[in-house]
Amino acid sequence: MKTVYKVEGGCVLCLMCVYQCPVKAISIIEDVSTVIDQDKCIGCGKCYNGCQPEAIIKIEVEDK
Ligand code: SF4
Ligand code: SF4
Repeated sequence: MKTVYKVEGGCVLCLMCVYQCPVKAISIIEDVSTVIDQDKCIGCGKCYNGCQPEAIIKIEVEDK
């Protein structure tokens, strides 16, 4: 299994995750939300643990 982090509803664009991500996997979509590039994410969980409004969810998926 692999842990995947995803930005869901509720992002207030505080940008904490954008600054904290060690591999710069998170970018901003037009004043709406942030998005995690799954190809860059190393699964450290910093964004998930630090997101105040809990806009980031954690999902367990099967390894391909
Ligand atoms: S930390 Fe949470 S609320 Fe802040 S920009 Fe990231 S996803 Fe949005
Ligand atoms: S889990 Fe870590 S590497 Fe992945 S997007 Fe969040 S902060 Fe970046």
